[in-house]
Amino acid sequence: MSDPVLQLRNVSRNYGSGNNQVTALKHIDLSIAAGEFVAVMGPSGSGKSSLLSIAGGLETASSGEVAIEGTALGGLNINELARLRRRAVGYVFQDFNLVPTLTALENVALPMELDGVGIRQARQQATIALQQIGIDQLANRFMDEMSGGQQQRVAIARAIVGRRRLLLADEPTGALDSFSGDSILDVLRQRADDGTAVVLVTHEARHAAWADRVIFLKDGRIVDEAADSHDPTVLLNHAAI
Ligand code: ADP
Ligand code: MG
Repeated sequence: MSDPVLQLRNVSRNYGSGNNQVTALKHIDLSIAAGEFVAVMGPSGSGKSSLLSIAGGLETASSGEVAIEGTALGGLNINELARLRRRAVGYVFQDFNLVPTLTALENVALPMELDGVGIRQARQQATIALQQIGIDQLANRFMDEMSGGQQQRVAIARAIVGRRRLLLADEPTGALDSFSGDSILDVLRQRADDGTAVVLVTHEARHAAWADRVIFLKDGRIVDEAADSHDPTVLLNHAAI
């Protein structure tokens, strides 16, 4: 059997030290296969964003192991890690993290250009990603010429550009109305069906219902997993954790 796209083994993460130490994640074991769409739910402060940043190699685990497509991140130097991230991981940040001095098209093309893809090809791919998210008409706008919802969609286009195998999205529909939110979920679901491993942090049971599996975090631990996320009672029971 091939390696899972994402594997966390006994991962813990602390922030701060001494009396100020916070343990954001405690002994997380998680394995996500190609084509699998996993939703992560849990109250504010339960460790959802920490889990995603560690899974994407943006932050390191305090202990335990993270592997992407069989490569242990702990064994990589900074350059190797950056390269793996650009090639393998699409990331939608809660605060978008777009470059204000670039247009929408340039923002979306950036990860590919950084990875050495020629400008023409990178922009072609970026145009396709903008089309898939339904904002190709905004390609030449700068970030301060776009609404929050439009910027959020640029961030999503940047995360899906090219053929990356792991897509991590931290509440990617927060700034969108429910119609646009649903259309983004449709894109994420399609990506998973095409073989990408997708991890979505969401507060909305309606969005988690698109996933193959739902993980519930509380105080940094996985407290439950609903294999059949389409059973609404499972989700409702957790809506108030
Ligand atoms: P969630 O995304 O579920 O709201 P987070 O992963 O952001 O949760 O945070 C989990 C815990 O870790 C919280 O107690 C939060 O305050 C703490 N935390 C997260 N990031 C940092 C940081 N950079 N420095 C200190 N504490 C942090
Ligand atoms: Mg968060």
